[in-house]
Amino acid sequence: MTIQDIIRKTLQQIKQRNLTLTPDVYSEYFCQEAKRAKVIVEDCQKFEKFVNQLPSDIKKMVKKRDVQNVDQLVRLLAAELTRTDAKKSGEIIQAYVLLTKRLLQVIELLHDRTASKMAKVDRDKIASFLDKVEIDAIRDHWNNFVIDYDDSFLDRLDIYCKVDKSDLEAMVDAIIECIKSKKSDISLQEVAQIVIASMTPSIASGMDDELATVSNQIRSNPELLTSKAMIDDLKYMIQKRIELDKKAVVKQITELDSVIEHISSTLVNVINWGDNNHKAIRAIQGELGSIDLKADSFEVIHAKLIAIANSLESETKNLNEEMHNSHEEVNALRKRVKILEEALRKERKRSTTDPLTNLPNRRAIDDFISKQESAYKRYGDNYAVVLFDIDHFKSVNDTYGHDAGDVILASFGKLLRRYSRDLDFVGRWGGEEFLVVLPKTDKKGALQFAEKLREIVKKSKFMYKDTRIPITVSGGVADRANHSSIESMLKQADENLYKAKKGGRNKVVN
Ligand code: GH3
Ligand code: MG
Ligand code: MG
Repeated sequence: MTIQDIIRKTLQQIKQRNLTLTPDVYSEYFCQEAKRAKVIVEDCQKFEKFVNQLPSDIKKMVKKRDVQNVDQLVRLLAAELTRTDAKKSGEIIQAYVLLTKRLLQVIELLHDRTASKMAKVDRDKIASFLDKVEIDAIRDHWNNFVIDYDDSFLDRLDIYCKVDKSDLEAMVDAIIECIKSKKSDISLQEVAQIVIASMTPSIASGMDDELATVSNQIRSNPELLTSKAMIDDLKYMIQKRIELDKKAVVKQITELDSVIEHISSTLVNVINWGDNNHKAIRAIQGELGSIDLKADSFEVIHAKLIAIANSLESETKNLNEEMHNSHEEVNALRKRVKILEEALRKERKRSTTDPLTNLPNRRAIDDFISKQESAYKRYGDNYAVVLFDIDHFKSVNDTYGHDAGDVILASFGKLLRRYSRDLDFVGRWGGEEFLVVLPKTDKKGALQFAEKLREIVKKSKFMYKDTRIPITVSGGVADRANHSSIESMLKQADENLYKAKKGGRNKVVN
C-alpha cells in the first residue's frame, strides 16, 4: 500500500464520518490508516517528538493537562503566552515555530498539490526567521485555508471520470480529455453542470460578471461545450476561479491578521503593566480561548475578535486613565515638594544670613568654623581668623545718623568680600564687628591679609548722601594651630583686637 492509498483511505474515513477536514482530523485518521497498513510514517510520531523538543516546564504542563493533539497544544501555548514574562514568552514563541512547522508538514501531505507546494515554501520560510507575528500569520493562513477550502465538488466528477485530483491545473486538462473520450455516454447537460460547479468559487463569495455570463451561456446551450473556443475559455475560467478563491483567502487572512495583531499588541501592553489578574483581562483571555477554529465560520471568528478587540480597547483606556490620574497626583506632589523645598531654602538662608549686610551671620560663621575644625583634626589643615571692628563707630552714628551707620556697615561688608579670596569666609560677627575665616592660612598670612584690608579701608571713600565719611578699622588675628580649641583661638583674636584699639586704633595685632 502506497502513501497515496493511505491518504485516499484517510479522506474516505473523514468523509464517511462527515467530519470537517482540518490538519488535526486529517493527521489523526491518517496515522490510524498508516498503522492499520503497517506503514511507519515518521510524521505520526511527530506530535510526541515535537512535545519532547519543548522546554521542560512546558513539557510538564503538556503532560499534566493531558494535551493530545496540536490544536489543544496551540491553545495551551497561546494561553501561556499571555501569562508569562518576556524570557519565557521567547521560549513559547520557539515552541510556536515548531508547532507551525508541524502543522505545515501535515498540510504538505494533503492531496492538493498547490497547497503542498505552498506549505513547503512556508515551512522553509519558518526555518529562517522567528518573528511571532509572521509565524502567526502563516498559521492562521493555513488554518483558514484548510477550514474553508471546499473541494467536495471534485468528488462529483468521479461519477463521470476518475481523474487525478492532486493538481488542480493538470486536473482541468484531464477532465476535458475524459469528457471528450466519453462524450457519447454523458449528456452535455450533466457535463455543463459539473463545469459550472467547478467554475464557482468555493471560498470567494461570488463570481465576477465574466464567469456568470459564461455559466449562463453553458446552462442555456450545453452544445457550446463541444467547441474548441469554449473549451479554451473554460480552462481560462477555471484558472480564474482558483484565482478568485486565492484572493478571498488572502483577504480573509489580512482582515484577521490586522485584528489579531491589534489584540496581541494591546495584550502585550496590558501584560507589561503586570496586572495579569485583572478581572477584565481574564475575561478577555477566556473569550480568546473560546474561539473554535473548526466550528466557527470566518464571519463568526471575525466578529468575536472585533468584540474582543473592543473590550480590550476600553480596558486599556481604563488602565490609561488610572495611570494618567496617578501621574497627575505625582505631578501635583512634585510641585508641592518644589514649593516646600524653595521655602525651606529661603528659610535656611534667612536663618543664616544677616539682612543688613547680606553676609553670613554668627550662626553660619560657627558652622563654617566647625567644618574647618574637621579638616584641621583630620588633615592638620591650619586656619586663621581675623576679627575686624570699625573704629569709633558710635560717633559715626552720632554724627551722620543711624541710616548712615547702616550704609557704612553694608559697604564695609562688601569691601571685605571683594578683597578676600573665594575660599575665605566673611561674616558679620555682631554690631560693627566682622569675622573673616581664612582656610589653610597661619597667623602670619592672616596678618598680611588684615593689614591689606586695614590699608584699603583707610583709603576707601565711604559715602553717604554725597558726604564722605572717613572710616578706619582695627583687627585682631589668631590661628588654630597655636591654640588648643576654637574658643581659645577666638578669645585670642578678641584680645588682639582690644590691643589694637588700645594701641591707637587703625591697627592690626596678631
Ligand atoms: P571702638 O573704636 O572702641 O570700637 O568704638 P566704637 O564706637 O566703634 O565702639 P562701641 O562698642 O562703643 O560702639 C559700637 C556702636 O555700633 C554702638 C552701636 O549703636 C553701633 N551699632 C551696632 N550695630 C549697629 C547697626 O546695625 N547699625 C548701626 N547704625 N549702628 C550699629
Ligand atoms: Mg565694637
Ligand atoms: Mg567699634
